Amino acid sequence: MQVNDLQVDALVVGGGIAGMQAALDLADQGYHVALVEKEASIGGKMIALSKVFPTLDCCSCITTPKMSAVAHHKNIQLFTYCEVEAVQQNGHGFKAHLKQKPRYVIEEDCTGCRHCEYACPLDLPSAFDMGLGAQRVIRVPFSTAVPQKAVLDMEYCILCGKCEQACPDDCIDFTQTAQDFVIEAGAVVLATGFELTPTDAKAEYGGGKLLNVVDALTVERLLAPTGPYGHVLRASDGKEPESIAYVQCAGSRDKTLGIEYCSRICCMYAIKQAMLLSGALPLADITIYYMDIRTFGKGYEQFYQNARAMGIEFVKGKVARITADDDHNPQVRVELIDDGSRVVEQHHDLVVLSVGMIPSFNPQLIYDVPIAASDGFVATPAANLSPCLTGRPGVFVAGTAAGPMDIVDSIIMAGAAAAETAAYLEEQRQVGTNGRFALPLPARELSYA
Ligand SMILES: Cc1cc2nc3c(=O)[nH]c(=O)nc-3n(C[C@H](O)[C@H](O)[C@H](O)COP(=O)(O)OP(=O)(O)OC[C@H]3O[C@@H](n4cnc5c(N)ncnc54)[C@H](O)[C@@H]3O)c2cc1C
Ligand code: SF4
Ligand code: SF4
Repeated sequence: MQVNDLQVDALVVGGGIAGMQAALDLADQGYHVALVEKEASIGGKMIALSKVFPTLDCCSCITTPKMSAVAHHKNIQLFTYCEVEAVQQNGHGFKAHLKQKPRYVIEEDCTGCRHCEYACPLDLPSAFDMGLGAQRVIRVPFSTAVPQKAVLDMEYCILCGKCEQACPDDCIDFTQTAQDFVIEAGAVVLATGFELTPTDAKAEYGGGKLLNVVDALTVERLLAPTGPYGHVLRASDGKEPESIAYVQCAGSRDKTLGIEYCSRICCMYAIKQAMLLSGALPLADITIYYMDIRTFGKGYEQFYQNARAMGIEFVKGKVARITADDDHNPQVRVELIDDGSRVVEQHHDLVVLSVGMIPSFNPQLIYDVPIAASDGFVATPAANLSPCLTGRPGVFVAGTAAGPMDIVDSIIMAGAAAAETAAYLEEQRQVGTNGRFALPLPARELSYA
């Protein structure tokens, strides 16, 4: 794909739900937007989820129409498999340096027919299914990916040529290389999202080592209608688990990890998954080990009470250690907070770590954007000001790039970021002397936390 330098009104970095919503809101108002996503498809973490709390609506059914709207909007230019490497101020707006990674597939000609994928002889663990299923070396990333274009993983390719022979449109191009290009924009929206606390962050929980200790995103894939097995099975022996435990705050509110904040979503997603698991495995016992249950949103407390009424067991206790017996059954050692700190050991078939959210934003991306010392996410104003201001005029933040939040809050914040971006662009047009990209306004005096 030949990529040319480009001028737009706004550059949105990150194609998760927050970035997509901000891009759509700006584009609907007539602004020209470049939306850049480093993965081969937009959708972010949300497209991998099963159902959403508290409504239990199908996640794919909500996300896919937005992905499609982004791809078809006449005011949005979408770049996938493309990374924003640096953004600088250049006197007239911003100058972003990007790298288009090679798909080894001619994107314009690929129809997403998947003949290449069926012909490829090599399987890898599926990244989209958290390593549970398999994916071919060349593949369309997942069934609802946008764009529906194949991508070839050159690291594992043996250059057998079978995909090239199978492609009816001659799209395979082993000679592609990465291309650097520049986007000039009047404003930037950072929607770079979050990462999960690594599963092995707390060695005493055995994540990444014990086969039947998994993280919550893995369970989302097991529960999703598009999941790898169509059932909830455990990895060690393919057995349906009869006893499942959740360990809350496994990577949040933990001084030993340097992650002292609450990730906000883990209580709610654990309750959601417990409810969905009771539907999928009606005979299974489900226990949630927690220190506090935090149900902060509208209707969330009722959701929690419904889960209790369904028979999900909530045990107030701090999990100290997880080990496994010879059959890979996890054994959880827990200090019961409401029972005089008594320590008990419980066997379960499967343990799910409710891992937290950590920042994915690389502070070097835009060197002047302040990062909050308390959590490492993009710093936002202390009070009484729009939460999507970043301390740098013309640069706004949306969604979990600013800190842990759920989908509803990410969408609200994206709408606010789009409104602030539009207001900023209009301000610039009025004070500017040379049309579209005017000199930025002086920095406002704000206090950021
Ligand atoms: C297990 C689990 C279950 C959950 N369940 C629910 C639920 O039921 N209900 C709910 O409300 N919330 C739920 N959430 C939270 C929800 O996933 C998030 O609130 C939401 O996905 C945040 O969207 P985002 O766009 O901010 O971030 P992300 O989805 O992380 O998107 C950010 C995007 O930016 C891209 N990116 C990053 N850096 C760059 C760069 N330099 N250049 C280009 N692209 C870049 C990333 O690849 C990514 O696609 C759950 C989370 C987890 C982990
Ligand atoms: S050339 Fe590479 S991607 Fe194509 S079929 Fe062979 S192994 Fe798969
Ligand atoms: S066979 Fe060719 S057109 Fe079909 S998905 Fe693969 S690269 Fe695209």
